[in-house]
Amino acid sequence: MSGPVNLSAGRQYLAIPGPSVVPDQVLQAMHRPSPNIYAGDLVEMTAGLIPDLRRVARTQHHAAIYIANGHGAWEAALQNTLQPGDLVLVPASGRFAIGWSEMADSLGIETQVLDFGTRAPWDMARIAEALAADRDHRIKAVLGVHVDTSSSIRNGIAGLRQLLDEAGHPALLMADCIASLGCERFEMDGWGVDVMVTASQKGLMMPPGLSFVFFNQKAAAARAALPRISRYWDWEPRANPAEFYQYFGGTAPTHHLYGLRAALDMIHGEGLEAVWDRHARLAESIWAACEAWGAAGPLRLNVAERGLRSHAVTALRIGAPDGTRLREWLQANLGLTLGIGLGMAPPGSPDWHGYFRLGHMGHVNGQMVMGLLGGIETGLAALDIPHGSGALDAAARVLAGR
Ligand SMILES: *Cc1c(COP(=O)(O)O)cnc(C)c1O
Repeated sequence: MSGPVNLSAGRQYLAIPGPSVVPDQVLQAMHRPSPNIYAGDLVEMTAGLIPDLRRVARTQHHAAIYIANGHGAWEAALQNTLQPGDLVLVPASGRFAIGWSEMADSLGIETQVLDFGTRAPWDMARIAEALAADRDHRIKAVLGVHVDTSSSIRNGIAGLRQLLDEAGHPALLMADCIASLGCERFEMDGWGVDVMVTASQKGLMMPPGLSFVFFNQKAAAARAALPRISRYWDWEPRANPAEFYQYFGGTAPTHHLYGLRAALDMIHGEGLEAVWDRHARLAESIWAACEAWGAAGPLRLNVAERGLRSHAVTALRIGAPDGTRLREWLQANLGLTLGIGLGMAPPGSPDWHGYFRLGHMGHVNGQMVMGLLGGIETGLAALDIPHGSGALDAAARVLAGR
C-alpha cells in the first residue's frame, strides 16, 4: 500500500517548549471535587509544597506563589524590588530577555539592554564594562534569562554573579528559570542569585497557571525599603502567610496545588540530579539526529556550540517555508505538534516560516524522543525536504550510551 493515509489518531504529542506534556499522575491528582479552602487536606498540604519547591530551586530562602503565568512572575519580581526611575541591566540572547525588559519598561523602570542577538550567548566582557561604567551604582538589578526559550541558548548565571562581585557592584541578580527549572542544573544559593522566577508549565510538568518567585534576604531588604507596593504582588505575605489565603492573595488555586504536589513528588522521587541527567541525555540524542539531518540538507541547530545549548528546548532553522510546512504536516498527519520559531523573523514576513523549535522539558523519556525524531524524519521524507541519513541511528546510539 502506498499513498497518503492519515495517521494522526491516537495520543497527541505536544512537543513545544511549554506548555509541556502533563503526566497522567498530575492530571489524575487534579481530577477531584473542589476541596475546602478553610481547613483540611488542602490547607495542610500547601505548607509542605514550599520546602519541596525550594529543593527544586536549590535555595534555603523564601518562595512566593502566584496564580499567574511567567509574565506574572516577571512583574512580581520587579514590583517587589524596584521603583519607577530605577535602572536595570538586561543582557539578552533571545526574545524572552527582551520581553522581561519590556515588562520593566512598562513599570517605569529604565532599562539598559545589551542585545547579543539570537545566536550568541552573553558577551561577559561587555557586561563587565557596563557594570564598571556604572560608578554611581544606578543599576539596581541585572535581569538574566538562564535559558532563552526562543534561541535555546543557555547563559551562565554563575558568571553574572562573578562579574557583579568582581566589580563590587551591589545590584540584585535576578534569574528567569522559567524554561530551565527542573530540566537543567540551576543552583540559586550556590550561584548567588537574589531573585529567581519560574512557572508551572515547563519543567514542572503542570498546566500553566502558577508561577513562583524565590528571593533571598538581600532581595527582601530591597522590598522592605520600597515606599509602597501593590497589595496583590507583594511577596511578603505570600512567603510568610498568617492566614491560608495570603499564600495566594485570595482564593487558592485549588486543583493546581494537587497537581503541583504530584509533580514535585515525581521530581524528587526520580531525584533532581537524575532529572537533569535525563534531560541532558535526551537533548544530546536530539542534537545528534539534527546534526545528521543537517549533513545533507538545510536543517541547522540555532546554537552551534554544544556547551551553550539548552537541555530543555532546541531551536532550529530549515529555511522558509519548510519550517511551517513541516510543523503543519506533522500536526495534520501524525498528531505531533512542534513549536513555532520565536523572535527569529518578524511575524508575517516570509522568513518567519523558516524556523521551528522542539520542547523536551519535563515529562519526556527516551521513547517519546525517538517518536519525536521519527516523526520529523517522516515529515522530511513526506515533504521531500533534503536531509542526511542515519539521524535515528545516531540518536539511538546516544540514548543507548554508546
Ligand atoms: C515561557 C517563558 C516565559 C513566559 O512565560 P509565560 O508563562 O508565557 O508568561 C518567560 N521566560 C522564559 C525563559 C520562558 O521560557
